[in-house]
Amino acid sequence: LNPDSANQNQEEVEFERALRPISFDDFAGQSHVLENLQIFVKAANLRGEALDHTLFHGPPGLGKTTLAYILANELDANIKITSGPVIDKPGDLAGLLTNLEPRDVLFIDEIHRLSSVVEEYLYSAMEDYKIDIMIESGPNARSVEINLNPFTLIGATTRSGLLTSPMRARFGISNRLEYYTTELLSDIILRSAYILGVKISQEAAIEIASRSRGTPRIANALLRRVRDFAQIKGNGKIDIEISKYSLKALNVDDHGLDDMDNKILNTIINKFKGGPVGLNTLSTAVGENAETIEEVYEPFLIQKGFIHRTPRGREVTELAYKHLNKIKPSEQGG
Ligand code: ATP
Repeated sequence: LNPDSANQNQEEVEFERALRPISFDDFAGQSHVLENLQIFVKAANLRGEALDHTLFHGPPGLGKTTLAYILANELDANIKITSGPVIDKPGDLAGLLTNLEPRDVLFIDEIHRLSSVVEEYLYSAMEDYKIDIMIESGPNARSVEINLNPFTLIGATTRSGLLTSPMRARFGISNRLEYYTTELLSDIILRSAYILGVKISQEAAIEIASRSRGTPRIANALLRRVRDFAQIKGNGKIDIEISKYSLKALNVDDHGLDDMDNKILNTIINKFKGGPVGLNTLSTAVGENAETIEEVYEPFLIQKGFIHRTPRGREVTELAYKHLNKIKPSEQGG
């Protein structure tokens, strides 16, 4: 149930593909982002131009890749998919860029992980649709400038803080994706169940949604597991009883918090008396990178009201004590 696509196996990837919305109309939530994108796509289509380079940032599993596919589809263009760590050298990137048709989309996942040489090479491609390539070798080696077809670069990152400012400045459109409400997630679950041909009650969809960490990827993954339980332990239909039974068997937290979420809360309570504690100290104590805590874990914990930020650092709330069945020091009588 890891929200991170990098840890998925092939079967999960196939499953996700089957459930992936393909047009603006299929995509639930992120309404503010969607409204703007629809306008930009319409305008680009009317003018017959490439869409401006677009950046999506936000925690894993919220739909960045899905939106890239939708944009390509709505632009009636092809999409090429790659990711930051895969592009080793400028030559790899040149190969991708020179093969793009006019208005095509190049999607670079984990764009913050491009090496600095590759990143700099990308700048002129993004800005002027031009790149330099080396031809011949030895004493005859020289660089020639070649024109590219106008294309759209879509970058996705979970760690926008790690993006360099020249890179960020080259995206005309930049969107932050937010966690989904239980209501939206339950709509996504109902849609997925329909595609999978499995019957599910509204109540069960809400139960699964409320434990999905605000993340469609997790909602779909839980639906898949609960479907197995319904088939083997029940009558195939997903109702509230089988949902509760399965979620308990799967050890899914009532609020959908994952191991790292709980570790962060436990650490702040046990080692730092509930906080405030600085980000770097917390990072060392839980053994997770500070930026990852800040950009992947913290936003959800803040949104759910488990922690808040103060000028002196992070502090857990009453809700966190309650959730972990712990007593706040001031209530222990000294
Ligand atoms: P990562 O950063 O880890 O690559 P991501 O943000 O790119 O994650 P996606 O791969 O786009 O996430 O989405 C994960 C799954 O969630 C997909 O299978 C997709 O079907 C589903 N999904 C995401 N957003 C929505 C949505 N708004 N409506 C319906 N399904 C969605």
